[in-house]
Amino acid sequence: MGPVKELLAPYLPILKWVGIGLLAYLGVIQLSLTAWAYQDIRARSESVLWRLLAPLVVFFTSVLGALVYSLLRPKEKLADTYARTLEKAYIMQDIEERPVCPSCQRGVEPDFVLCPYCHTSLKKKCPVCGRLMDLTWQMCPYCGQ
Ligand SMILES: [Zn+2]
Ligand SMILES: [Zn+2]
Repeated sequence: MGPVKELLAPYLPILKWVGIGLLAYLGVIQLSLTAWAYQDIRARSESVLWRLLAPLVVFFTSVLGALVYSLLRPKEKLADTYARTLEKAYIMQDIEERPVCPSCQRGVEPDFVLCPYCHTSLKKKCPVCGRLMDLTWQMCPYCGQ
């Protein structure tokens, strides 16, 4: 083992610094990955367990852990989930509020007097004030007649 050691001897200080540099580099990667996992899981899960485990696992397993985490993490960000729920609620509301003809079930406008498809009466006009009334109303709620 003599010759190799002799050959390397002059370079040992350089090798040492290269080694320290590499370690520091890996350390920075490790910290960045951990910080990334920490931020990422906070955006994706409200679970305390997830929030603790994700950065810890990534810190101790580095790139491999980060890869596994990116496969196992919740697919959707909380903000996206919230937006989607809102959107769904809006669509549902839209469907619920859109009146349909009681006879043919097709969509009609709220101020239609007749269904344009099957000519069923939908509303009646108040003979006094001319506003639209529900067919079942006995009195006009607008003018009291
Ligand atoms: Zn109709
Ligand atoms: Zn009226």
